[in-house]
Amino acid sequence: MAGPSRVGTPDDAPFSLPDPAMNSPEPAEALEPALRVLRHTFGYPSFRGEQAAVVEHVLGGGDALVLMPTGGGKSLCFQIPALLREGCAIVVSPLIALMQDQVQSLRQLGLRAAFLNSTLTQEEAFEVERKLRQDELDLLYVAPERLLTGRFQAMLEQVRIALFAIDEAHCVSQWGHDFRPEYIQLSVLHERFPGIPRIALTATADASTRAEIVERLALQEARIFIASFDRPNIRYTVVEKDNPRKQLLKFIRTHHDGDAGIVYCLSRKRVEETANFLRTEGIQALPYHAGLGPDVRAENQDRFVRGDGIVMVATVAFGMGIDKPDVRFVAHLDLPKSLEAYYQETGRAGRDGLPSNAWMAYGLQDLVMQREMIEQSQAPEEIKRIERRKLDSLLGYCEAPACRREVLLRYFGEESTPCGNCDMCLSPPDTFDATDPARQVLSAIYRSGQRYGAAHIIDIVLGKATAKITERGHEKLSTFGIGKALSSPQWGSLLRQLVAQGMLGVNEFGGLMLLDTCRPLLRGETSFAARRVREATRAAASVRREIEIASDEARALWAALRQCRRDLAEEQNVPAYMIFGDATLKQMLDVRPTSLEAMHELHGVGDRKLDAYGMPFLQVILQHQKNQN
Ligand code: ADP
Ligand code: ZN
Repeated sequence: MAGPSRVGTPDDAPFSLPDPAMNSPEPAEALEPALRVLRHTFGYPSFRGEQAAVVEHVLGGGDALVLMPTGGGKSLCFQIPALLREGCAIVVSPLIALMQDQVQSLRQLGLRAAFLNSTLTQEEAFEVERKLRQDELDLLYVAPERLLTGRFQAMLEQVRIALFAIDEAHCVSQWGHDFRPEYIQLSVLHERFPGIPRIALTATADASTRAEIVERLALQEARIFIASFDRPNIRYTVVEKDNPRKQLLKFIRTHHDGDAGIVYCLSRKRVEETANFLRTEGIQALPYHAGLGPDVRAENQDRFVRGDGIVMVATVAFGMGIDKPDVRFVAHLDLPKSLEAYYQETGRAGRDGLPSNAWMAYGLQDLVMQREMIEQSQAPEEIKRIERRKLDSLLGYCEAPACRREVLLRYFGEESTPCGNCDMCLSPPDTFDATDPARQVLSAIYRSGQRYGAAHIIDIVLGKATAKITERGHEKLSTFGIGKALSSPQWGSLLRQLVAQGMLGVNEFGGLMLLDTCRPLLRGETSFAARRVREATRAAASVRREIEIASDEARALWAALRQCRRDLAEEQNVPAYMIFGDATLKQMLDVRPTSLEAMHELHGVGDRKLDAYGMPFLQVILQHQKNQN
């Protein structure tokens, strides 16, 4: 089949910070203190989207349910009220890694944050509790099981609590994939501490989960804030699978040389093979799957999070709780489970708002395999029916005749217009009248008994006398060799489009069969327009990086800034992005501040980070300017 289609940002779309249009207008006076914290502590000039409204509401003591996509900026919604309200904010979080990460980031900003979970020794835990009692904490992250103990609840009654934040609130949903039984009991917070505002946050969008959260956490009185689930900085691309590993390699080399990314595969074996392959090609790739020991997994994850250019090849076991903001791409070598899963997995790219890619290689074989897994599972029929429908939605996305983002957002109940930042928008596919070929191939399927897979059917229409063909006498069919006008990849694509449109079904062994909806076409009553497969030449898109650096001179400074960041990160023993994110570093490169005041103006440089790191970066810039003269 054809090579990958065009990906990457076109040259006329320069690097940009998160869309300023997403920022809200100047907020009311009540928000003045919040804005001061936003600017001085976090170093951001303005709130994004719903943030201002949420902060204002929670500051005023109201309960809130916040639905925002990954990377939408949920944390600030409770962190700022936590700092402005009296007392300590209690943040419930289901994942230890996530807790530690957030606490570390907050400490980098000079805030008084701590966590309580099973990784602490008893002395350490006592010390945290002492700080809580003596009002020495702004934010305390706790695991739900700890929060629910009688002892901890009794302690909470003795201290001033600013608010309760319930992160990853969809964990209360029994039907979701992240169900945590302790979450259900969190409704006691409402009963025991009725006057304290609660803010529940999640990136899971669908209406039934939302209703379940409201119900189980007793948030009936809460205001619900729903942000758009669009992730405009992510470019969606689906390529036809040909030689997936080679396609992946080319994709990485072309667009993501030296970048951090995640590659998802279905099986452990494929994870290992792909990681090995990438390594032999000189890419820093690590494997991650449930078959590796916990130590290896933890070490690989740690290297991925701390480093700034590692590719993690993983099963879907990897990702939940990974808060790394500078993941520049997420690639799927196998079909994800559903569009929800796909959106969640691809959502791990570009949390920092910088241009990122979601790239998937997909072929009919993937669909067949997923169908097989559904049909052969022991699940009851009603579950299977749901799974089949989910698979169809996914297929609809892969075979979408138009904008990918429109399909994705519509699936989550949001109407939108063509995005201009997906493969379909950037190079719209040609269509051609495929009425005749479609009828020919449907006829070949019918006449050969509706049980052969795509490869065999294509051999029939192309007139290939393989052993399998002659054994079955298929060279005698009237459709044998009828379709030499189209290439084999084009036939494959046509078959997929017929499956996507519900004219063909696939049985559990991959055999194709006719469905009722194809009758009008067979009878000559309707026509069929098909997409032409993308030619390999189109794939030869311009080589460019996601973060565009124009000259050798700028590249030298970029490298020096990154080195400075690496050194500081090592010294502080924190991930590189916690010193400054890519967005901030890129601004240093573009703006070239030559004083601390100018440095302070940059996005992401708050008071504390200016003090701690402003000077070393300033020196790098000044030294670089001197070298140039
Ligand atoms: P979420 O928890 O919703 O996935 P985060 O709270 O981690 O998202 O925020 C994602 C990224 O956006 C972080 O790097 C954060 O610092 C940044 N961010 C959040 N709010 C703003 C803002 N108002 N202006 C600029 N950057 C922001
Ligand atoms: Zn689009």
